[in-house]
Amino acid sequence: MVSNFVGLNDTLTAIVNSLFGMDKNINVFFHIDSSLPSHKAGNASYDVASSNFIGHIYLNPIYLSPSNEESILGTIIHELLHVTMSYYIDLNNNNLISDSELSSILPVYFACNSPTSNFETCSHEEMAANYVELMAETLQNFNQDLTNHEALGIAWVGLQETEYWQNNIPNDDKNLILVAQGNISIFPESTNVTPCE
Ligand SMILES: [Zn+2]
Repeated sequence: MVSNFVGLNDTLTAIVNSLFGMDKNINVFFHIDSSLPSHKAGNASYDVASSNFIGHIYLNPIYLSPSNEESILGTIIHELLHVTMSYYIDLNNNNLISDSELSSILPVYFACNSPTSNFETCSHEEMAANYVELMAETLQNFNQDLTNHEALGIAWVGLQETEYWQNNIPNDDKNLILVAQGNISIFPESTNVTPCE
């Protein structure tokens, strides 16, 4: 199944560029990681060797065969968003972009981030507020048979713990999305992303 995604590099680059308006490339390596716990389909991390940012996306092999391609792509996009956010946060931590620049790139993350919050929580809030619709559009471009609610259902996986989902999505829409999730085979997405240094 993963072999179907080999060659997606240009597609994924275009996704990141369109989601973030990025004008530079970052290196991202994909790993099949059988040590991921069973409730996680994916994970993301990064390392920095001097100024050379390298992202890593780990996919749990137990979900690769039985799952549909759209769910795998949804996980890849979700993890790519974590990696790309980490990239900008790392630039900010190293004073290579200012706080005001970071706040314009990741406004929800920036407002959320505090000593009592964490990367995972705040990056999920940013995704929920600003990227779910784009994720769903990307998934529908990949498979035009997906209905709007099925695409949204995949995009929302892993983000339904957010305050944005709880407070900003009308109950009728939530119900339609949850029904659509039940109709397509979706696996649990990563909920415990730990960017490691
Ligand atoms: Zn996540």
